[in-house]
Order: sequence, then C-alpha cells, then structure tokens
Amino acid sequence: MDRCWFNKFKPKDKTPSSKNKETGIAKGSKPPTNDEAPSNVTKQKVAAAKQYIENHYKKQMQDLQERKERRNMLEKKLADAEVSEEEQNNLLKYFEKKEREYMRLKRHKMGADDFEPLTMIGKGAFGEVRVCREKATGHVYAMKKLKKSEMLRRGQVEHVKAERNLLAEVDSNCIVKLYYSFQDEEYLYLIMEYLPGGDMMTLLMRKDILTENEARFYVGETVLAIESIHKHNYIHRDIKPDNLLLDRNGHMKLSDFGLCKPLDCSNLQEKDFSIGSNRSGALQSDGRPVAPKRSQQEQLQHWQKNRRMLAYSTVGTPDYIAPEVLLKKGYGMECDWWSLGAIMYEMLVGYPPFYSDEPMLTCRKIVNWRNYLKFPEEVKISAEAKDLISRLLCNVDQRLGTKGADEIKVLWRTHGLKVLNGTNCTKLKLLLFLRLMMN
Ligand code: ADP
Ligand code: MG
Repeated sequence: MDRCWFNKFKPKDKTPSSKNKETGIAKGSKPPTNDEAPSNVTKQKVAAAKQYIENHYKKQMQDLQERKERRNMLEKKLADAEVSEEEQNNLLKYFEKKEREYMRLKRHKMGADDFEPLTMIGKGAFGEVRVCREKATGHVYAMKKLKKSEMLRRGQVEHVKAERNLLAEVDSNCIVKLYYSFQDEEYLYLIMEYLPGGDMMTLLMRKDILTENEARFYVGETVLAIESIHKHNYIHRDIKPDNLLLDRNGHMKLSDFGLCKPLDCSNLQEKDFSIGSNRSGALQSDGRPVAPKRSQQEQLQHWQKNRRMLAYSTVGTPDYIAPEVLLKKGYGMECDWWSLGAIMYEMLVGYPPFYSDEPMLTCRKIVNWRNYLKFPEEVKISAEAKDLISRLLCNVDQRLGTKGADEIKVLWRTHGLKVLNGTNCTKLKLLLFLRLMMN
C-alpha cells in the first residue's frame, strides 16, 4: 500500500533545503517555543491525520477479526460435519486461498476507468449491462452498472449486497462468475464473465417453442444451477428466462441474484387474491378471468408482443413467481422449483402457465393455480413432461425438489433415458446426462 495518506499531511510551506536537516526547522527562524501555538489549519491537519490513522488500524483489526471468525466458523462446521481429516485440510487450504485472493482484490483499487465500455446488452431497473474490455489485459467482461440513488430509493440495497455476495461466494459452473465489484459516487459496478449466447427469453421468443429434447437439456441445466445456489443457502426467488444466460457452448448459467423485481404486492391482502374479487383484473363468478378466450397461437402472439416490455419494466413480470412468495406467507427454497415448472411450461407451450393481459390478474391466477393450470389441447406434450410440470407447479408440500434436487433428478433420469436411447443424442446431452447421473 502506498503512503499517500502520510504525504498529504506533510507541511508544504517549508522546502526541505531551507530546513535544518536534524530539526526540520527553517534556517534563521526561531525554534518553536511552547507558547507558540500551532495554527488552526495545522490543528485540523493533525486531527485529520490522527483520525485517518485510527480508522485505518481499526479497520485493519476489524478485517483480521472477521477473517478469524470466518475461519473459526468453518472449522466448527467441518468438525460437526462428517468430513475426513484430509478433506478438512483441503477445504481449509481452499478457504485461505480465497481469503488471500480477496485481500489482493481489495488492495487493488479497480475502477470504471479500467474498462472500455462496448455494446449494450441489457437494460434493467437500476441501470444497464454492457460488454466491456479491461484496458490492461484486453479481457472481455460484462459490466452491470447500478444507479445507487435508484437502489436506495427502492430499498434494494440489501438485495444488491446479496447479489454481490452470492456471486463472489458460490463458485459453480452453473452460475455467472463475478470478477470484480467496485463503486463510484453514482454507481455500483459488477464485472462478470460475459456470456455471448444471449438469454433464454430471447431464445424462446425466436423459437416460439422448444422440442422436448431441447427443453429436457435446459431444464436439466437449470436443476443443477438451482441446486448449486440452494447448497449455499441462497434462494433466488426470481428465476425466469431473462435470468438464464447461455455461454459460448450453449450451456446455461444462472444470473441476476438479489435484484429481483417482484410485483409490488405489499399493499395487498390475501383476500385481494381470492376468486370472485372484483378489483382490477376481475374474475367471473366461477373464478375464471373476464378475458377473451384465445387460441394457443393467439395467446402466444399476445405474450410475445408484451414480453420485452415486461422484461424491461421496473416491476418485472410476475409470471414465474411462486404463490407462497406472492402471498408473503413465508417461503423456502421450494419457490425456485415452482419457477422451473413455469419456465418448462413456457418452453413447451410458448407462454407461461398463468399469463394474462394484466400482471395483477396473473398474480391472482398463480395464487388460484388449481383452477388455472391447463395444458392447451393444440399443443402436443408428452405425459412425462406434463407429469414433471404438474409436480413442480403445485402446493409446497407435494412439490418436487422440496426434499432436495435429487427428487427431480430421479424423475429427469427416468424421463431422460427414453430420449437418450434414441438416435439424436448429441454429445452435449450425453455429457449433461452423465453429470446428472453422477451427482
Ligand atoms: P436486471 O436486474 O436489470 O434484470 P440482469 O442481470 O438480469 O439485470 O441483466 C439484464 C440482461 O442483460 C439479461 O437479461 C441479459 O440479457 C443481459 N446480461 C446480464 N448479464 C450478462 C452477462 N454476464 N453476459 C451476457 N449478458 C448478460
Ligand atoms: Mg434480470
């Protein structure tokens, strides 16, 4: 670390050449006597220096203490878990390596100036995502820029912190990697790996629907991604096609943690969701929405027309949110498996299961899912796919995944085998299949 803080407080009014080397006192001037009080400016400088030094060492001690606490916690957890001594040592070594990397990163003060912004690839509620190039190395990254005032205004600071922590903590191939994070007066910056394959929302808009083979592949990859964040005790809550990104090889990774934009239902009570309520997005007496009956094709076109607008809107789309999250009754990791069910439905049908013209009506349909979960007759979907979707879009206690991702993997395997025995089994699918089998 440089000593710039020290230089800042050096007296500037006297050049070294005019001073007596030993005393530091200017030639010809009288040495200060006790009754010659320092000027106010000097006093302020001294106070600032004192404060700076105190804060500096206080922070250093605090960092050391926190590091010690993290190590103690890990040691305790390892002692409680049934882990061999060798594995314990490996994990502790890994932990120390990560801590060193973290310290190194902290010492190097990175800033937006270190990157050359290139094309814009996404626009969200709090800022934008751009491809950028690190000037020093030429490496290409994705830079997510978040406006601080906007996050404060919407009380999203904790969410952003969660996003940064999760990205930094979880080291998984299924999750977009975070390389740096820093801030300036106006913005927070996340420098992430750049995934050039686009997002699943764009893929779905381009293809209308996926084949069951394709859906099986992406659902399999999403299962692994969700599992890896759950293993670290994180819940995503906002898994949707816009947050599933594709890398250069077509593998899928999960992104956008913590910055979820759930529809603001904070003013709503449970009764507002109930069937028969006649607030906006009214339902008929039999609980069905007063909405034009559309064919699957019409509904698909309608959905696609609205899709990008919904994605870029500040409220976001509620289409993939689990009922228990909307009802704010307390929820757990299962809510992410519900979202997977809604995405799988969209992959095979073309639009999400509870889509309607009004986001509020979508919320009502989700909460009253028993009346609304239907598979359009026009679309051919195998019994196995319907089975998996229905076991994800259901009540928490029956929902697959509640007892861990293995439940889904088992079903995926039995359904997956049929296709993999077929003729068009690509190397990629086989690799994924092996990964799932070994997990
Ligand atoms: P928001 O919180 O605004 O939804 P996201 O992190 O989801 O922000 O980013 C918005 C969009 O930007 C994504 O839907 C995706 O298309 C694009 N994007 C985000 N991160 C990356 C990345 N690492 N690589 C490529 N594209 C990305
Ligand atoms: Mg997003």
